[in-house]
Amino acid sequence: MIDEIKIFHKDLTVIRSELEAHKPYEACGVLIGTLNGSIAIVEKALPITNSKRTRRSFELDPKEHYDAWNEAEKKGKEIVGVYHTHPVSSAVPSLWDRETMQNDTSVWLIAGADGMRAYVWDSGLKAVKMTEYSGVKTQ
Ligand SMILES: [Zn+2]
Repeated sequence: MIDEIKIFHKDLTVIRSELEAHKPYEACGVLIGTLNGSIAIVEKALPITNSKRTRRSFELDPKEHYDAWNEAEKKGKEIVGVYHTHPVSSAVPSLWDRETMQNDTSVWLIAGADGMRAYVWDSGLKAVKMTEYSGVKTQ
């Protein structure tokens, strides 16, 4: 089970600007990187079209999601998590989110009107520690 997520400042900036750009609808995307034990290391936040385009839920466009998965695989990376935005509510999983999370072992990062938080579902909702890399990506 993932209990910590490390993410670059640049990727948090991407997610924040997606939140603004799609207001009042939810925006979504995937977090590509690697797993190191219980730590998910995010190397890229990749925006994906929300094919539902509602204010209350999201659905990753299946084709883009598949392409992202394929692209990650080719580079020896994986999709370690999913992000979505709550432009008008807090960064807490909605009822719909909770139900969906139960079939997904990856990290859920939510960017809400009150900041960002990360969660996993492990026989219940668990908060995941978020650590921000402030330095410049070197690789
Ligand atoms: Zn949500």
